[in-house]
Amino acid sequence: MQKLLIMAMLLATLLTIKVSEAAVTEDRAYFPPVIMYHDIKLMPLNNFDVTLKDFRKQLKWLKDNGYKTLSMEEFIDTVTSGKAFPKNSVLLTFDDGYSDSLSYALPELKSRNMKATFFINRWYIGKKAKGYPYITESELKSLADEPLISLGSHTTSHEHLDKLSPERLAFELSDTKAYLEELTGKPVLALSYPFGDYNADVIAATQTAGYEVAFAVQDRGLFDQPARFSIPRIYMGLALSANNQALFKKYVRNYSKMPPEAFIDRWQPLNQ
Ligand SMILES: [Zn+2]
Repeated sequence: MQKLLIMAMLLATLLTIKVSEAAVTEDRAYFPPVIMYHDIKLMPLNNFDVTLKDFRKQLKWLKDNGYKTLSMEEFIDTVTSGKAFPKNSVLLTFDDGYSDSLSYALPELKSRNMKATFFINRWYIGKKAKGYPYITESELKSLADEPLISLGSHTTSHEHLDKLSPERLAFELSDTKAYLEELTGKPVLALSYPFGDYNADVIAATQTAGYEVAFAVQDRGLFDQPARFSIPRIYMGLALSANNQALFKKYVRNYSKMPPEAFIDRWQPLNQ
């Protein structure tokens, strides 16, 4: 009788272990905080900029508080294997491929051994927009060689993906992906939706194009798809950083509870 009891207890223990090792349910709360930067500047020109001074403070705070930056490869491996993310993980992302983010953000990341992902639009490479020059192809090649940096697609022409024909949508999702894969010799499995715009058709086309994860801005819903295809990101900018690190900390700490104000569009030129 005692043997039977011991065996029953053993079985119960084994079953508990089995359940706890099962794949983590993928929902919004599963993901670590994901931060979206655009440009890092000495003198900000737009509300979506972050000054170098504030950026340094943010990296210092993340480091001092035990946050560990993930590469996109680590992020995707964790998601696709269904494991839990390591405690205090954080994902840093930079959209659009601005030259100043390379000049100012990259040295700060490297000096702290912190990882980040840059999302690139192919047709913007080397463009010289006023105040916002884009990185050139040769700069992109050297960025691709940085061990701490991962590259992802931000589509080719930065259109609102939910407004495109199926053919154009397929092109936008595949063109920059193929270009970056040729450039890096590695699969490009992460996409960020321009303007954070997505719907059910966009998510379906994203999966067909071969992506494993896709990043949005606001939470516009799952559309009955895995949460990995519409991951919200904290929209960084002056309002969250200039003399106000409290908001930055609050949004990083509360990411899984999604404070709506964390995802407000911050694109707004400053008065000159
Ligand atoms: Zn963008």
